[in-house]
Amino acid sequence: MDKITEMYTTVNANVHRGVHFLSQAATEEHEASRRTVQQFINAASADEIVFTRGATESINMVASSFCSRFCTEGDEILITAMEHHSNIVPWQLQGEKQGLKLRVAPINEEGELLLDELEKLISTRTKLIAVTHISNVLGTINPIKEIIQLAHRHDIPVLIDAAQSVQHTKVDVQALDCDFLVFSSHKIYGPTGVGVLYGKERWLNAIPPYQGGGEMIETVTFEKTTFNKLPYKFEAGTPDYIGTAALATALDYVSALGIEEIAHYEHELLTYATEKLLQVPGLRIIGTAGNKSSVISFLVDGIHPYDMGTLLDRMGIAVRTGHHCAEPLMRQLGVDGTVRASFAFYNTKEEVDLLVKGILRIVKMF
Ligand code: PLP
Repeated sequence: MDKITEMYTTVNANVHRGVHFLSQAATEEHEASRRTVQQFINAASADEIVFTRGATESINMVASSFCSRFCTEGDEILITAMEHHSNIVPWQLQGEKQGLKLRVAPINEEGELLLDELEKLISTRTKLIAVTHISNVLGTINPIKEIIQLAHRHDIPVLIDAAQSVQHTKVDVQALDCDFLVFSSHKIYGPTGVGVLYGKERWLNAIPPYQGGGEMIETVTFEKTTFNKLPYKFEAGTPDYIGTAALATALDYVSALGIEEIAHYEHELLTYATEKLLQVPGLRIIGTAGNKSSVISFLVDGIHPYDMGTLLDRMGIAVRTGHHCAEPLMRQLGVDGTVRASFAFYNTKEEVDLLVKGILRIVKMF
């Protein structure tokens, strides 16, 4: 918030547009933010970092630009059963335009991806695999490095949805060798309305722009337009340079805390909360993968998730309830929705105790 105020009060001018002081200062901030993101995910070049409105927009960009360039009727996009709607619907929308099919890799009862089944679904028509790093419902941490290696053996590029992972675990795009990766600023303590699309330079160069407008062009005539170099080709219009500066500030903050330390502490909270919650009579945890992030979805016998959520809210405890933007997953799990407690580095064991106490009170009431 301090960074946002600083930007609005000291360097508020449009980027890449003027030789005047404020425009240059804002441009320098915006490009420095891009380098911060590059370093945070260890991209090979800042040109591989495209600023977007969020993970959702980033996936829509890839669905539209990648598929229009590389897919033809009958081609397939492979996703998993635990995807967020934002990694399902963009492929369906594009699929309708081009006659593409969506293939879905199944999960087991614990909420783990069945890698063998995923591999069986790969065909000569598979053009891209899009998979979440961490499930927002189950907390499952997918073996994305293995998936990427497997996909590359078949010459298939991979998009990683890192919306739920960059804030909880180290993400190194070069070590992973992923082709695209997306995340949202607001889930990593930055402002809303900003996000990132990482793409390997060769892919970003190979696919057409998603939107047209100012900034993204090299020359324009009424007959033909040539496009700007990366990453500007994908950043039509005025970017949210205030938001990107604040995102970079948030990333610096997370880096200063140490992502490994965050992961370690959150895992401790997860273990503690899991043990405590399992002591509640009738409570069932949905998502019990061996490798889990610090979210716990649960149901308590005879208590609707909305009732649980509403009553916990009265006690000042915020949990998510419902389908968590993953309706197909809910259907597969045979539930309408769940209650989900998510733990971040700022949560404490005392807060876990309060949550458990609250649930026990509600169980008694029912
Ligand atoms: N992917 C996952 C796994 C998510 O949990 C979310 C949001 O909850 C998204 C994508 C979409 O993020 P956004 O709404 O910030 O675009």
